Amino acid sequence: MKILKSVDLYKYNTMKLHCFAEIMYIPESVNELVELITMLKEQHLNFYCLGAGSNIIFAERVERPIINLMFFDNSLCYCENGIVQCGASVRIQKLISWLKNYSLGGIEYLFSVPSSVGGAVYMNAGRGRKFNMSISDYIQMVKYLDLSDMKIKTLCGNEYFSYRTSPFQKINVVILNVFFKFKKQELAVTERLIKERLEYSKKTLSADKPSCGSVFNKVNPFIIRLFMGKVSGGAMFSQKTPNWICNMGNATAKDIENLVGRVIRIHRLFLLKYNLEIRFFK
Ligand SMILES: Cc1cc2nc3c(=O)[nH]c(=O)nc-3n(C[C@H](O)[C@H](O)[C@H](O)COP(=O)(O)OP(=O)(O)OC[C@H]3O[C@@H](n4cnc5c(N)ncnc54)[C@H](O)[C@@H]3O)c2cc1C
Repeated sequence: MKILKSVDLYKYNTMKLHCFAEIMYIPESVNELVELITMLKEQHLNFYCLGAGSNIIFAERVERPIINLMFFDNSLCYCENGIVQCGASVRIQKLISWLKNYSLGGIEYLFSVPSSVGGAVYMNAGRGRKFNMSISDYIQMVKYLDLSDMKIKTLCGNEYFSYRTSPFQKINVVILNVFFKFKKQELAVTERLIKERLEYSKKTLSADKPSCGSVFNKVNPFIIRLFMGKVSGGAMFSQKTPNWICNMGNATAKDIENLVGRVIRIHRLFLLKYNLEIRFFK
Protein backbone atom coordinates (compact mmCIF):
# COMPACT_ATOMS: atom_id res chain seq x y z
CA MET A 1 0.00 0.00 0.00
CA LYS A 2 1.22 3.46 -0.84
CA ILE A 3 0.90 6.23 1.74
CA LEU A 4 1.20 9.84 0.60
CA LYS A 5 1.57 12.72 3.02
CA SER A 6 0.71 16.39 2.40
CA VAL A 7 -0.75 15.48 -0.98
CA ASP A 8 -1.74 18.07 -3.58
CA LEU A 9 -5.20 16.83 -4.58
CA TYR A 10 -5.15 18.58 -7.98
CA LYS A 11 -4.87 15.35 -9.96
CA TYR A 12 -7.39 13.52 -7.80
CA ASN A 13 -10.44 15.70 -8.60
CA THR A 14 -11.98 16.58 -11.94
CA MET A 15 -12.77 20.11 -10.68
CA LYS A 16 -8.97 20.53 -10.54
CA LEU A 17 -8.99 22.30 -7.18
CA HIS A 18 -5.54 22.91 -5.73
CA CYS A 19 -5.90 21.70 -2.17
CA PHE A 20 -4.07 19.46 0.23
CA ALA A 21 -4.78 16.29 2.14
CA GLU A 22 -2.81 15.51 5.27
CA ILE A 23 -2.63 11.85 4.28
CA MET A 24 -3.79 9.58 1.46
CA TYR A 25 -3.76 5.80 1.65
CA ILE A 26 -3.70 3.85 -1.60
CA PRO A 27 -4.52 0.18 -0.92
CA GLU A 28 -3.56 -2.19 -3.73
CA SER A 29 -5.70 -5.21 -2.78
CA VAL A 30 -8.90 -5.97 -0.88
CA ASN A 31 -6.80 -7.35 2.00
CA GLU A 32 -4.86 -4.09 2.27
CA LEU A 33 -8.12 -2.16 2.16
CA VAL A 34 -9.65 -4.22 4.97
CA GLU A 35 -6.51 -3.97 7.12
CA LEU A 36 -6.32 -0.22 6.56
CA ILE A 37 -9.95 0.44 7.50
CA THR A 38 -9.66 -1.82 10.54
CA MET A 39 -6.64 0.19 11.67
CA LEU A 40 -8.37 3.56 11.10
CA LYS A 41 -11.47 2.34 12.96
CA GLU A 42 -9.35 1.17 15.90
CA GLN A 43 -7.93 4.68 16.08
CA HIS A 44 -11.47 6.14 15.85
CA LEU A 45 -10.45 8.09 12.75
CA ASN A 46 -13.10 9.15 10.27
CA PHE A 47 -11.99 8.99 6.64
CA TYR A 48 -13.15 9.73 3.12
CA CYS A 49 -13.40 7.15 0.32
CA LEU A 50 -12.35 8.54 -3.02
CA GLY A 51 -13.06 7.06 -6.45
CA ALA A 52 -12.10 8.98 -9.57
CA GLY A 53 -13.00 12.27 -7.84
CA SER A 54 -15.54 13.36 -10.46
CA ASN A 55 -18.21 14.29 -7.95
CA ILE A 56 -16.07 15.65 -5.12
CA ILE A 57 -15.29 19.19 -3.99
CA PHE A 58 -12.28 19.17 -1.70
CA ALA A 59 -11.78 21.81 1.01
CA GLU A 60 -8.50 23.70 0.82
CA ARG A 61 -7.08 21.45 3.55
CA VAL A 62 -8.67 18.03 4.04
CA GLU A 63 -7.86 16.82 7.51
CA ARG A 64 -9.51 13.41 7.45
CA PRO A 65 -7.44 10.63 5.89
CA ILE A 66 -8.41 9.86 2.28
CA ILE A 67 -8.60 6.29 1.02
CA ASN A 68 -7.95 6.24 -2.71
CA LEU A 69 -10.04 3.38 -4.14
CA MET A 70 -8.60 3.45 -7.68
CA PHE A 71 -6.00 0.71 -7.24
CA PHE A 72 -7.39 -2.04 -5.00
CA ASP A 73 -9.31 -3.97 -7.69
CA ASN A 74 -8.86 -3.27 -11.40
CA SER A 75 -9.97 -6.73 -12.50
CA LEU A 76 -12.36 -7.54 -15.33
CA CYS A 77 -13.60 -11.06 -15.85
CA TYR A 78 -16.09 -12.66 -18.22
CA CYS A 79 -18.07 -15.32 -16.34
CA GLU A 80 -20.69 -17.68 -17.72
CA ASN A 81 -23.93 -16.69 -19.47
CA GLY A 82 -22.87 -13.17 -20.33
CA ILE A 83 -22.19 -12.19 -16.72
CA VAL A 84 -19.25 -9.86 -16.22
CA GLN A 85 -17.40 -9.28 -12.95
CA CYS A 86 -15.76 -5.89 -12.58
CA GLY A 87 -13.58 -4.46 -9.81
CA ALA A 88 -14.70 -1.15 -8.28
CA SER A 89 -11.43 0.57 -9.29
CA VAL A 90 -11.95 0.01 -13.03
CA ARG A 91 -12.59 3.18 -15.03
CA ILE A 92 -15.96 3.19 -16.74
CA GLN A 93 -14.39 3.82 -20.19
CA LYS A 94 -12.19 0.76 -19.72
CA LEU A 95 -15.23 -1.38 -18.92
CA ILE A 96 -17.18 -0.08 -21.94
CA SER A 97 -14.24 -0.70 -24.30
CA TRP A 98 -13.54 -4.15 -22.84
CA LEU A 99 -17.17 -5.21 -23.31
CA LYS A 100 -16.66 -4.88 -27.07
CA ASN A 101 -14.54 -8.07 -26.93
CA TYR A 102 -17.66 -10.00 -25.93
CA SER A 103 -20.21 -8.15 -28.11
CA LEU A 104 -21.83 -6.72 -24.98
CA GLY A 105 -22.96 -3.18 -24.32
CA GLY A 106 -25.62 -0.85 -22.96
CA ILE A 107 -23.83 1.90 -21.02
CA GLU A 108 -22.07 3.77 -23.82
CA TYR A 109 -23.82 6.95 -22.64
CA LEU A 110 -21.41 6.84 -19.68
CA PHE A 111 -18.35 7.02 -21.93
CA SER A 112 -18.11 10.76 -21.27
CA VAL A 113 -18.26 10.30 -17.49
CA PRO A 114 -14.82 10.33 -15.80
CA SER A 115 -15.86 7.80 -13.18
CA SER A 116 -14.79 4.58 -11.56
CA VAL A 117 -17.17 1.63 -11.62
CA GLY A 118 -17.43 1.75 -7.79
CA GLY A 119 -18.28 5.47 -7.89
CA ALA A 120 -20.77 4.95 -10.72
CA VAL A 121 -22.59 2.22 -8.79
CA TYR A 122 -22.51 4.22 -5.55
CA MET A 123 -24.00 7.27 -7.34
CA ASN A 124 -26.09 5.16 -9.76
CA ALA A 125 -24.67 7.17 -12.64
CA GLY A 126 -26.83 7.48 -15.70
CA ARG A 127 -28.46 9.74 -18.25
CA GLY A 128 -30.84 12.59 -17.46
CA ARG A 129 -34.05 11.80 -15.56
CA LYS A 130 -36.27 11.69 -18.67
CA PHE A 131 -34.20 8.90 -20.26
CA ASN A 132 -34.59 6.48 -17.34
CA MET A 133 -31.20 4.85 -18.01
CA SER A 134 -28.72 4.09 -15.23
CA ILE A 135 -25.84 1.72 -14.63
CA SER A 136 -28.08 -0.18 -12.19
CA ASP A 137 -30.13 -1.44 -15.18
CA TYR A 138 -27.40 -4.04 -15.67
CA ILE A 139 -26.45 -4.87 -12.06
CA GLN A 140 -26.88 -8.49 -10.99
CA MET A 141 -24.96 -8.42 -7.74
CA VAL A 142 -22.69 -6.08 -5.77
CA LYS A 143 -20.05 -7.25 -3.31
CA TYR A 144 -19.30 -4.68 -0.63
CA LEU A 145 -17.45 -4.26 2.62
CA ASP A 146 -19.87 -3.28 5.36
CA LEU A 147 -17.91 -0.87 7.54
CA SER A 148 -20.21 -1.34 10.52
CA ASP A 149 -19.04 -4.93 11.13
CA MET A 150 -16.20 -5.19 8.55
CA LYS A 151 -17.87 -8.17 6.84
CA ILE A 152 -17.94 -8.68 3.08
CA LYS A 153 -21.57 -8.90 1.94
CA THR A 154 -23.53 -9.12 -1.28
CA LEU A 155 -26.54 -7.24 -2.56
CA CYS A 156 -28.47 -9.17 -5.22
CA GLY A 157 -30.53 -7.50 -7.92
CA ASN A 158 -31.13 -3.81 -8.57
CA GLU A 159 -34.55 -3.16 -7.11
CA TYR A 160 -33.31 -0.68 -4.48
CA PHE A 161 -31.69 1.66 -6.99
CA SER A 162 -33.45 4.74 -8.35
CA TYR A 163 -32.51 7.93 -10.16
CA ARG A 164 -28.95 8.83 -8.97
CA THR A 165 -29.60 6.87 -5.79
CA SER A 166 -28.17 3.57 -4.61
CA PRO A 167 -28.84 1.71 -1.39
CA PHE A 168 -25.13 2.22 -0.54
CA GLN A 169 -25.65 5.93 0.03
CA LYS A 170 -27.59 5.12 3.19
CA ILE A 171 -25.04 2.77 4.75
CA ASN A 172 -21.35 2.95 5.38
CA VAL A 173 -19.70 0.68 2.80
CA VAL A 174 -16.95 0.26 0.27
CA ILE A 175 -18.15 -1.31 -2.97
CA LEU A 176 -15.63 -4.00 -3.87
CA ASN A 177 -16.83 -5.46 -7.15
CA VAL A 178 -19.89 -5.71 -9.28
CA PHE A 179 -21.50 -8.45 -11.39
CA PHE A 180 -23.28 -7.09 -14.45
CA LYS A 181 -25.35 -8.66 -17.19
CA PHE A 182 -25.12 -6.36 -20.20
CA LYS A 183 -27.06 -6.73 -23.40
CA LYS A 184 -25.79 -8.40 -26.56
CA GLN A 185 -24.63 -5.69 -28.90
CA GLU A 186 -22.71 -5.64 -32.18
CA LEU A 187 -19.28 -4.04 -32.01
CA ALA A 188 -20.25 -1.51 -34.70
CA VAL A 189 -23.29 -0.41 -32.65
CA THR A 190 -21.14 0.12 -29.54
CA GLU A 191 -18.63 2.15 -31.52
CA ARG A 192 -21.38 4.29 -33.04
CA LEU A 193 -22.96 4.92 -29.62
CA ILE A 194 -19.60 5.91 -28.10
CA LYS A 195 -18.96 8.30 -30.97
CA GLU A 196 -22.44 9.80 -30.68
CA ARG A 197 -22.01 10.25 -26.92
CA LEU A 198 -18.69 12.04 -27.33
CA GLU A 199 -20.17 14.32 -29.99
CA TYR A 200 -23.23 15.03 -27.80
CA SER A 201 -20.99 15.89 -24.82
CA LYS A 202 -18.84 18.20 -26.92
CA LYS A 203 -21.94 19.99 -28.20
CA THR A 204 -23.94 20.31 -24.97
CA LEU A 205 -21.52 20.18 -22.04
CA SER A 206 -18.96 22.71 -20.83
CA ALA A 207 -16.13 20.24 -21.23
CA ASP A 208 -13.49 22.90 -21.87
CA LYS A 209 -13.25 23.83 -18.17
CA PRO A 210 -12.86 21.49 -15.16
CA SER A 211 -16.14 20.55 -13.48
CA CYS A 212 -17.95 17.92 -11.46
CA GLY A 213 -20.86 17.33 -13.84
CA SER A 214 -24.37 18.24 -12.69
CA VAL A 215 -24.42 20.05 -9.36
CA PHE A 216 -27.96 19.07 -8.27
CA ASN A 217 -29.82 15.91 -9.21
CA LYS A 218 -33.11 17.52 -8.27
CA VAL A 219 -33.53 21.24 -8.86
CA ASN A 220 -36.07 23.69 -10.24
CA PRO A 221 -35.19 23.95 -13.95
CA PHE A 222 -36.22 27.62 -14.26
CA ILE A 223 -34.34 28.78 -11.18
CA ILE A 224 -31.15 26.93 -12.01
CA ARG A 225 -31.13 28.57 -15.47
CA LEU A 226 -31.20 32.02 -13.82
CA PHE A 227 -27.81 31.17 -12.32
CA MET A 228 -26.08 30.53 -15.67
CA GLY A 229 -23.01 32.78 -15.82
CA LYS A 230 -23.11 33.66 -12.09
CA VAL A 231 -19.62 33.88 -10.61
CA SER A 232 -18.10 33.49 -7.17
CA GLY A 233 -14.31 33.93 -7.06
CA GLY A 234 -12.86 31.42 -9.52
CA ALA A 235 -16.06 29.37 -9.91
CA MET A 236 -18.83 30.03 -12.39
CA PHE A 237 -22.16 28.44 -13.29
CA SER A 238 -21.60 27.45 -16.91
CA GLN A 239 -23.14 29.69 -19.57
CA LYS A 240 -23.51 26.69 -21.86
CA THR A 241 -24.79 23.90 -19.59
CA PRO A 242 -27.41 24.55 -16.88
CA ASN A 243 -26.73 23.13 -13.40
CA TRP A 244 -22.99 22.87 -14.08
CA ILE A 245 -20.21 24.72 -12.22
CA CYS A 246 -16.84 25.28 -13.89
CA ASN A 247 -13.48 26.08 -12.38
CA MET A 248 -12.38 29.16 -14.32
CA GLY A 249 -8.80 28.83 -13.06
CA ASN A 250 -8.39 29.30 -9.36
CA ALA A 251 -11.70 28.21 -7.80
CA THR A 252 -11.85 27.05 -4.21
CA ALA A 253 -14.39 24.93 -2.35
CA LYS A 254 -15.64 28.15 -0.73
CA ASP A 255 -16.40 29.70 -4.13
CA ILE A 256 -18.37 26.61 -5.14
CA GLU A 257 -20.12 26.39 -1.78
CA ASN A 258 -21.11 30.03 -2.15
CA LEU A 259 -22.74 29.45 -5.58
CA VAL A 260 -24.47 26.28 -4.36
CA GLY A 261 -25.67 28.09 -1.21
CA ARG A 262 -27.32 30.84 -3.28
CA VAL A 263 -29.32 28.26 -5.26
CA ILE A 264 -30.33 26.44 -2.08
CA ARG A 265 -31.48 29.66 -0.37
CA ILE A 266 -33.83 30.50 -3.25
CA HIS A 267 -35.26 26.96 -3.21
CA ARG A 268 -35.84 27.21 0.53
CA LEU A 269 -37.43 30.62 0.22
CA PHE A 270 -40.02 29.31 -2.25
CA LEU A 271 -40.33 25.88 -0.56
CA LEU A 272 -39.02 24.11 -3.69
CA LYS A 273 -37.43 20.69 -3.66
CA TYR A 274 -33.75 20.23 -4.43
CA ASN A 275 -31.08 17.62 -3.90
CA LEU A 276 -27.35 18.22 -4.12
CA GLU A 277 -25.42 15.70 -6.20
CA ILE A 278 -21.85 16.89 -5.68
CA ARG A 279 -20.18 16.05 -2.38
CA PHE A 280 -18.00 18.26 -0.20
CA PHE A 281 -15.02 16.57 1.47
CA LYS A 282 -13.96 18.97 4.25
C1 LIG B 1 -17.48 15.92 -17.09
C2 LIG B 1 -18.41 15.13 -16.17
C3 LIG B 1 -19.52 14.52 -16.70
C4 LIG B 1 -20.39 13.80 -15.86
N1 LIG B 1 -21.49 13.22 -16.42
C5 LIG B 1 -22.29 12.47 -15.65
C6 LIG B 1 -23.41 11.78 -16.25
O1 LIG B 1 -23.65 11.85 -17.45
N2 LIG B 1 -24.18 11.02 -15.43
C7 LIG B 1 -23.92 10.90 -14.09
O2 LIG B 1 -24.66 10.18 -13.39
N3 LIG B 1 -22.88 11.55 -13.50
C8 LIG B 1 -22.07 12.32 -14.24
N4 LIG B 1 -21.00 12.96 -13.67
C9 LIG B 1 -20.80 12.88 -12.21
C10 LIG B 1 -19.82 11.77 -11.74
O3 LIG B 1 -18.92 11.44 -12.76
C11 LIG B 1 -20.53 10.50 -11.27
O4 LIG B 1 -21.31 10.74 -10.14
C12 LIG B 1 -19.54 9.36 -10.97
O5 LIG B 1 -20.27 8.17 -10.95
C13 LIG B 1 -18.74 9.48 -9.68
O6 LIG B 1 -17.77 8.44 -9.68
P1 LIG B 1 -16.29 8.63 -9.12
O7 LIG B 1 -15.57 7.35 -9.25
O8 LIG B 1 -15.66 9.82 -9.70
O9 LIG B 1 -16.62 8.86 -7.57
P2 LIG B 1 -16.11 10.04 -6.62
O10 LIG B 1 -16.48 11.35 -7.21
O11 LIG B 1 -14.69 9.82 -6.26
O12 LIG B 1 -17.01 9.75 -5.34
C14 LIG B 1 -18.40 10.00 -5.37
C15 LIG B 1 -19.02 9.30 -4.14
O13 LIG B 1 -18.91 7.89 -4.34
C16 LIG B 1 -18.24 7.29 -3.22
N5 LIG B 1 -17.48 6.16 -3.75
C17 LIG B 1 -16.64 6.14 -4.81
N6 LIG B 1 -16.18 4.88 -5.01
C18 LIG B 1 -16.75 4.11 -4.05
C19 LIG B 1 -16.68 2.73 -3.71
N7 LIG B 1 -15.91 1.85 -4.40
N8 LIG B 1 -17.39 2.30 -2.65
C20 LIG B 1 -18.18 3.13 -1.92
N9 LIG B 1 -18.28 4.45 -2.20
C21 LIG B 1 -17.57 4.92 -3.25
C22 LIG B 1 -17.37 8.40 -2.64
O14 LIG B 1 -17.08 8.17 -1.27
C23 LIG B 1 -18.28 9.61 -2.84
O15 LIG B 1 -19.22 9.70 -1.79
C24 LIG B 1 -20.12 13.70 -14.48
C25 LIG B 1 -18.98 14.31 -13.95
C26 LIG B 1 -18.12 15.03 -14.79
C27 LIG B 1 -16.89 15.67 -14.22
